[in-house]
Amino acid sequence: MHQLVSLDKLSTKQTPFYYYDTALLKETLQAIKTEIEQYERFQVHYAVKANANAKLLNIISQAGLEADCVSGGEILAAIDAGFSPNKIVYAGVGKSDWEIALGIDQEILCFNVESIAELEVINEIAEKKGKIARIALRINPDVEAHTHANITTGLAENKFGIALCEMKTALEACLRMKNVRFTGLHFHIGSQILDMRDFVSLCDRINQLQEELHQHHVHVESINVGGGLGVNYEHPDQQPIPDFKAYFQTYAQHLKLYPHQTLHFELGRSIVAQCGSLITKVLYVKQGVRKKFCIVDAGMTDFIRPALYQSRHQIENLSSNDAHETYDVVGPICESSDVFAKAIDLNQCHRCDLLAIRSAGAYGEVMASQYNCRKLPKGYLTEDL
Ligand SMILES: *Cc1c(COP(=O)(O)O)cnc(C)c1O
Repeated sequence: MHQLVSLDKLSTKQTPFYYYDTALLKETLQAIKTEIEQYERFQVHYAVKANANAKLLNIISQAGLEADCVSGGEILAAIDAGFSPNKIVYAGVGKSDWEIALGIDQEILCFNVESIAELEVINEIAEKKGKIARIALRINPDVEAHTHANITTGLAENKFGIALCEMKTALEACLRMKNVRFTGLHFHIGSQILDMRDFVSLCDRINQLQEELHQHHVHVESINVGGGLGVNYEHPDQQPIPDFKAYFQTYAQHLKLYPHQTLHFELGRSIVAQCGSLITKVLYVKQGVRKKFCIVDAGMTDFIRPALYQSRHQIENLSSNDAHETYDVVGPICESSDVFAKAIDLNQCHRCDLLAIRSAGAYGEVMASQYNCRKLPKGYLTEDL
């Protein structure tokens, strides 16, 4: 796996832990920069929810990305890591009053508003503070993303955003209110999307909406298309950096921007997934009735994606060169879904071997819990080892 770190170095830390390849993260950020430099109106926000490790956030803010937050806690984490508040966009179906107040006090770039009721609350809180909050309407575009059901967000049946048929009412409400200023439209159709045609469908929908708004002389300053670009979980070393060229080109070719409009992206997974691995130690190799279990010290509390989304991650035995055997790799948690992989081939496993669960940089460390009174896993960057 990662060429930059030796087994000796990994062995010095208490397992399980996340290891982040700083060089790969920086290359990924550079790849994004190289692409968007060609399109002067493209702005990329990092979706903090994918990984809020303070050191990672710091590298990402240093690289000049802006931030996309989904809670007050994320706004605070982003500001702490050096993102400027006026580059933060904030989405979420359930923003509480203190979170809205925080966003207004910090004068964030934009609230992505998900209902008329929320719009009223933002207007009220802003009025009390004598301020004007910039808002975009998050529209549910009713576009299907061909990905796992738990991570599609842009279908009419999902809880996210304002329904297409409600857009006009929301917009009128917004234009009537004195303490909010309408600045744009926001969308996000889902995650782990690899078929560019899903993004094309979104572009088509946005073009259609923009035309209607244009006819009604509504001025839209910015379009935000959310995130969702997927990564290659099957072959992390073949494609450590996602195809940002194809992604940005899709929008450049299919989305009609009006003069002076900016186009915002909110990428999470595609920025951080491949730079992270969960490093775990083999506790026991157990012969079951029909199969062999490799029992490791990491569990679904450390990394919940396989249990929550049936996701598959490459696993490597870093300590063994012995011939392959077939294992179910499982954790110690008292839940049957605490399984990282079924019937996979690994170099023969022994007690205390170190395994790397790959492509774990996104929705990994940040989703860890303390179920079973476990400790939260730590995260180390290359330079910490
Ligand atoms: C989760 C989320 C993102 C990031 O999605 P990725 O698939 O990780 O790129 C972007 N925008 C919003 C509103 C989100 O909820």
